[in-house]
Amino acid sequence: MNPHFPSYRGVMEYHCLGCGKTYGIDELLYTCPECGGVFLLRDTTFDSLKKTSGREWREIFDARAASKNPALRGIFRFYELMAPVLEPEDIVCLGEGNTPIVESSPALREITGLRTAYKNDGQNPSASFKDRGMACAFSYLRNCIRRQGWDQVLTVCASTGDTSASAALYAAYVGGPIKSVVLLPHGKVTPQQLAQPLGSGAIVLEVPGVFDDCMKVVEYLADNYRVALLNSKNAWRILGQESYAFEVAQWYGWDMAGKCVFVPIGNAGNITAVMAGFLKLLDLGVIETLPRIFGVQSHHADPVYRYYAVDDPAKRSYAPVPVTPSVAQAAMIGNPVSFPRVKHFAERYETLGGENAFQVLQVTEQAIIEGMLLANRHGHIACTQGGECLAGARRAKELGLLSDDESCILDATAHHLKFVGFQQQYFDNTFPAEFGITPDPTLANRPELILQPEDKASLSPEEYTAKAAVNVVRRLGLTKR
Ligand SMILES: *Cc1c(COP(=O)(O)O)cnc(C)c1O
Ligand SMILES: [Zn+2]
Repeated sequence: MNPHFPSYRGVMEYHCLGCGKTYGIDELLYTCPECGGVFLLRDTTFDSLKKTSGREWREIFDARAASKNPALRGIFRFYELMAPVLEPEDIVCLGEGNTPIVESSPALREITGLRTAYKNDGQNPSASFKDRGMACAFSYLRNCIRRQGWDQVLTVCASTGDTSASAALYAAYVGGPIKSVVLLPHGKVTPQQLAQPLGSGAIVLEVPGVFDDCMKVVEYLADNYRVALLNSKNAWRILGQESYAFEVAQWYGWDMAGKCVFVPIGNAGNITAVMAGFLKLLDLGVIETLPRIFGVQSHHADPVYRYYAVDDPAKRSYAPVPVTPSVAQAAMIGNPVSFPRVKHFAERYETLGGENAFQVLQVTEQAIIEGMLLANRHGHIACTQGGECLAGARRAKELGLLSDDESCILDATAHHLKFVGFQQQYFDNTFPAEFGITPDPTLANRPELILQPEDKASLSPEEYTAKAAVNVVRRLGLTKR
């Protein structure tokens, strides 16, 4: 049926990071029933993959990049490292993953003094990286539905906007027994992000408050009712998001020496997945060097930065922070669910990559929005969180953390178009004071009307064109040839 589909099957289980207990994957589990800890998914037979050499794995993954089998085209190109319990008929592929890496133009490099490239995860189907995790989570749900004959599945998520857009899209595609419900903080997602789940036909519920408030409601539902939670507590999402790391490594010919990967941190699922992914590749000998990882947070939502800002690991202590409005709204989270996962992988990452292999930076709101504007004025399509990554790279340079031979891979986690409202507020100088942003008026760009509406009615078509053209000539100061 699928002659080219991999034959390897693993044995997966949930592994609690709190108490170490493990659980089978036949049940939907999000937190440990024993201790409340978060899970990672583990393939207990992973070590058997080491019988295949790193070079052979590289060849396998490179060959699959040309596959026409949809089940191997997206994130499941890395099937054995992802969820090797799924069958081809379970796999949902809406064209996620495979996002391009675009080198910054010489002009932008000149300004920043940095060698940067953006990985455009906004070029995923729902225009954010969340599709990587959703493709994996929905494939697993389809596997459950098929094997266990479930006739009704209510998927729920709290969201800063993109999780719900992605969940609603995949739910709409899979259809059947799946019904999608999303919970949003009222007025705290962009109009584009709100339009997405509405367009996909999800039930959209709003609460006054911020993301962290929505998350508590959704957790209560997941603890007490039979619902499929699609937040990044769901360990299947983390797995799918590891594909970002695999693709970065593959793009650079599996050579990560001198590479620094910048990732914005919100709920900390993405940075967890990126670290986990590179560690897996190292473990299998697919890469020989870990890239350095830089997490980036806004000074308006920076609990992970604050934790790692204390140098002595023995003196560090984690505390949630109250958030203030941020243009990096998708990362505006004061109590990241995946913090224990970050801690877990950061320790391993530093053990294997050296103490500078994982660092967290803090940047200002001003630097974030101007990072986005600067990137996009040089041909990128970065969202505000992508701007945050450029701000992070500039901050790292300022702090002397980067050497001249290193280059930066910046994560444009969503498409620019989802966050144009913030761009408009910058151009119009209408940011509420709490953002702490003072626009540079020279960066403002506005449309200019070159004919009055009355002209359209009063002039003949010929006069209308002539007058408009004359006005354009005057505006541009053109001289006749
Ligand atoms: C979700 C999201 C983030 C934050 O990712 P986490 O996994 O929550 O840390 C950043 N940028 C965008 C565009 C997002 O949608
Ligand atoms: Zn536990």
